[in-house]
Amino acid sequence: MANLVWHTKLGIHLDLTLEDLGHPNLPNLWSIVYDTDRLYAARDIPVSARDLQCGGICQEAGVTAWMYLRQRADGRREAVHERTEDEQRHVPLMTPEYRAYQERIQLSSAGAHGPRSVRARASHAARHGITPAWHTDRADYADRHDTHWPRSDRLPARVIAKAGDLRVVSGFRALDFWRCDARALYRCPDTSHRCGKVHVTPKPRDILFGGDGSESYASLWRGTAKVSELL
Ligand SMILES: [Zn+2]
Ligand SMILES: [Zn+2]
Repeated sequence: MANLVWHTKLGIHLDLTLEDLGHPNLPNLWSIVYDTDRLYAARDIPVSARDLQCGGICQEAGVTAWMYLRQRADGRREAVHERTEDEQRHVPLMTPEYRAYQERIQLSSAGAHGPRSVRARASHAARHGITPAWHTDRADYADRHDTHWPRSDRLPARVIAKAGDLRVVSGFRALDFWRCDARALYRCPDTSHRCGKVHVTPKPRDILFGGDGSESYASLWRGTAKVSELL
């Protein structure tokens, strides 16, 4: 399954994680493409003639992977690859590091589209009063501001798996208010000298991954677990 579909006739991407598929200006888009696909299926029109391709990983890999749509009883929308070998392209590799993390916490994958799907889930969680946190070892994710991205260094599996503390090195910020004078630790963000004003610098909080002294972080993780239950 994949969340991003390329509609060859309309020439647009459909993001199935979004209610309006990412096209607020095209009302009822899902009903239209879904009903059309069902109609084609009922008339035995092959999947390769139904205008829907994987618009995510397969497209990025330069592969034409035909898809069909389905809707679950709970309303969940899904796009399914016609061929199993295309579906395989979306299965994340189970690295020893991933497995070690999984032994410590409930992992919920950010998916092939990375932060894009996370943003949708974060707003979903926020509507339910949950503060999500996404643990990552990627610096480019940790720099984002769309949700909490506590980051650890890339560590070998044996370090992740052991019961000890796993240091969160960035992505979880506290605001540091400081006066721009001779004792200041940071450079002035506005001028090349000391301006005397108060500045605010977001800085990583020194917290540990699920350790005893990280109650706030632990509660964030409980929030994350709830997010996966909701999805
Ligand atoms: Zn695909
Ligand atoms: Zn200053």
